[in-house]
Amino acid sequence: ETPRRLVIVSNRLPYRFEGDGAGGFSFERSVGGLVTGLGPLHEEAGNLWIGWADAAEGLADEGRAALDGALAERACRAVFLDTKDAKRYYEGFSNSAVWPLFHGFPHLARFDKGEWEAYRRVNERFRDAVVAEARSGDVLWVQDYHLMLLPSLLREALPDARIGFFLHIPFPDYETFRMLPWRGEIVRGLLGADLIGFHAYDYVRHFLSSCRRIAGIENASGTLMADGRLVQADAFPLGIDYERYRDAARTPAVRRAAAEFAAEKGHEGCKVMLSVERLDYSKGIPDRLNAYDAFLDRHPEWAGRVVLVLVTVPSRENVGSYRALKKRIDELVGLINGKHSTMDWTPVDYYYRSLPFNQLAGLYVASDVMLVTPLRDGMNLVCKEYLACHDGDGGVLVLSEMAGASSELHEAITVNPFDLEGLVSAMEQALAMPADEQRRRNAPMQHRLARYTSRKWAREFLDAMDETKRRQEGLG
Ligand code: UDP
Repeated sequence: ETPRRLVIVSNRLPYRFEGDGAGGFSFERSVGGLVTGLGPLHEEAGNLWIGWADAAEGLADEGRAALDGALAERACRAVFLDTKDAKRYYEGFSNSAVWPLFHGFPHLARFDKGEWEAYRRVNERFRDAVVAEARSGDVLWVQDYHLMLLPSLLREALPDARIGFFLHIPFPDYETFRMLPWRGEIVRGLLGADLIGFHAYDYVRHFLSSCRRIAGIENASGTLMADGRLVQADAFPLGIDYERYRDAARTPAVRRAAAEFAAEKGHEGCKVMLSVERLDYSKGIPDRLNAYDAFLDRHPEWAGRVVLVLVTVPSRENVGSYRALKKRIDELVGLINGKHSTMDWTPVDYYYRSLPFNQLAGLYVASDVMLVTPLRDGMNLVCKEYLACHDGDGGVLVLSEMAGASSELHEAITVNPFDLEGLVSAMEQALAMPADEQRRRNAPMQHRLARYTSRKWAREFLDAMDETKRRQEGLG
């Protein structure tokens, strides 16, 4: 049996590209969970990736044709969007309504009819692009919260298609989700898929309860009937390319990066606590800083012996709530360093930038404690990468119970990120943990992560799609 062609559809393509001014383009593979999970599958012969050509704005028709040609060589197909619609769809509805609401920040959500309509139009543009490419027998796999109407739009156009959907962020409880003025449209949009995947069972439960209360559709073990068609919802926790991080940690380049970091920054003799994330209100950065401040207040014996390395990666700088958060973090870091620093010690070592792979891996290796304390996070891959870089070794992971990853990583020190006292105790416990206990806790987590990789995640989702199709045929 020849494998079916896979068509991946996501907001962005797996390459970042730039015009070289002479009609050509340079391409760089993007990083991140989605691309590491789906990249190897995409590269298998014949498969295709469809996504928004966000850097193609301002290109004339000729430039777009050249870009199309270059992308075709990389098995990609660009969707071109109207500039104004793109802004309302991406910064607007996707990141100012869906993102805050689904992460449990309803006070930051803006429900704007114009932005919703742009979101729908953009989803229709994606439908047109997919329909133009789709062949009978293809597996169409739609990714993430930018494209929640696309499954049902595709279903109307291609009733017999195999359609999968995966949500990379949390699905909120019904009481939160019901605030969305277009909740019915979103639920029905998703139900156009055959299989709907989430990172965790809690999100599956929340989705099913919204199906029942909003669309009146009951389920049995995640199986629903929508317009007489069987639909399955299930959990598929995304993993990482474990070997890549494990092996990177053993290369001379990364070892050197780790050693240089310790030496140049004057962190020798200090225990290093690390946090790395996009600058996002869901990540709980101010709460973590407040807890560190309280920790230093109460533990003068740690003065000069611990440093918090705080890396925040610029993100969505055109959205107002992100700019306000940046200001707040800058101020907090200033306050803490102003209050606790001595002539030869600064308690917070703060960076606002993204790091190349080797440097990030070097930081993971050099850190004694990894603080991953989001207020809400669909999965969180950073904590998994840290453990992979410490394969067979110690290092302490402090992990928020609000991250999807916590259901797989229960040997970590788990914290409620809203509980300042709990965060302070977790810092104490992490810094004092004996080396043998560190290794004893990490080993089972590392074993699990090495098995359930991002490739395995994609495989299991696609196998479950086949299974759903077989059950549909059994009904027919
Ligand atoms: N990352 C990166 N460069 C950086 C910091 C982070 O490439 O300077 C990567 C990191 O390795 C991880 C991803 O960004 O794979 C973040 O994924 P996660 O699920 O933890 O959070 P998200 O940003 O998707 O909310």
